[in-house]
Amino acid sequence: MLKVNEIYYSVQGESSKAGLPCIFVRLTYCNLRCSYCDTEYAFYEGTDFSIDTIIEQIQKYNCKLVEITGGEPLVQAECLPLMEKLCDMGYEVMIETGGSLPIEKIDERVSVIMDLKCPSSKMMQKNRYENINHLKTIDEVKFVIGTREDYDWCKKIIEEYNLSEKCHILFSVVFGQLKPIDLVNWILEDNLPVRFQLQMHKIIWEPTKKGV
Ligand code: SF4
Repeated sequence: MLKVNEIYYSVQGESSKAGLPCIFVRLTYCNLRCSYCDTEYAFYEGTDFSIDTIIEQIQKYNCKLVEITGGEPLVQAECLPLMEKLCDMGYEVMIETGGSLPIEKIDERVSVIMDLKCPSSKMMQKNRYENINHLKTIDEVKFVIGTREDYDWCKKIIEEYNLSEKCHILFSVVFGQLKPIDLVNWILEDNLPVRFQLQMHKIIWEPTKKGV
């Protein structure tokens, strides 16, 4: 069984698939407490579903892109066979993880969107840097940047781990904390090989709206 906070159909708000229709499976629990977290409601609330029941819910939508998210989905080990089964069924599967738990057992057909937590998140010490060795070219590393100090730290990490050779890199702002234009200007000044993105759902809907 997996504890599921919500299953819903919306557009991908982040990642290189931004703008595409997508089914989201939000799993309950998170082992981190980021300073800017906007999904605290997923820390404890949820309903126990079997993998088959989750798949039945997914099949209600006419869409082949599924994102497993949280909270931290990797807290529940059963998310691994769920993703495997979805891949076997022909779904394109993505997982969003905070980057503190091992990713090597995730099916290689799944795109991993992995955060590396910046200093202002207050969770930087939880980053599991060994995960970088397991990133594939279809994966993406996401930095959520709240300050200039965060930005400078990201640049250092990208260089140190040669990240741009390994996978896609996403830069986004902590909503309401850092101005998007400041981050864009820094990226352009430094000619960084990263993709700037906004949390699209916070612009389309009310920023606090759930299930979108
Ligand atoms: S990893 Fe995600 S869900 Fe967990 S505390 Fe951080 S922002 Fe919130």
